Amino acid sequence: MNNYIKITQCADCKSCCFNIPESICSFNAIEEILNGGITESYVKQMVVYHVAEKDIDRMGKQWLMFPSVNYLRYMTGPEKGFYEFLALPAVKDNCILLTDKGCLYPAAKPFECGMYPFYMYKLQFRTDYECDYAKELEDDIHVSEFVSQYMADHLIYCEKNKQNYFEAVKDLKNKYQLRAINA
Ligand code: SF4
Ligand code: SF4
Repeated sequence: MNNYIKITQCADCKSCCFNIPESICSFNAIEEILNGGITESYVKQMVVYHVAEKDIDRMGKQWLMFPSVNYLRYMTGPEKGFYEFLALPAVKDNCILLTDKGCLYPAAKPFECGMYPFYMYKLQFRTDYECDYAKELEDDIHVSEFVSQYMADHLIYCEKNKQNYFEAVKDLKNKYQLRAINA
């Protein structure tokens, strides 16, 4: 999956990587783990959310930036009435993947991190000007086109890997004894 935003200042700034809510990982994070790109000590800090099929739209509204498209449904299919998602846990301080050099595993970033400082609120594209780099980026790109393309590419990527997601999460949960949380 493409990492669209290339911001070199992130290593110095890091301010958006603090106090983060749960971040659901797409298959790119799983791929990185399977390829040995993320060390065991980091993987062990991840969690698996267990979501009943009947709750998938409620959790989509809680977790996702694009309430009009519940891409949780594109990422993985339910098995025996439950979905399972690999996630970075909510933290009040710094994200578990944050280091002095910035995001430790940029290729494994959740969808939301990959498009920050842009986000969607009430179906409208917004920019978070808390990021010092936001204005400069906005001058470089047409935000709504950029975000729409990013979303479209993400959905294609999710669908392509949908069949593998559930089994892969189950294997990771067993291998690393990841904490399972009922959402
Ligand atoms: S606030 Fe902006 S510059 Fe700072 S870490 Fe986040 S994306 Fe990078
Ligand atoms: S995954 Fe990387 S970019 Fe996203 S919050 Fe964590 S450290 Fe920051």
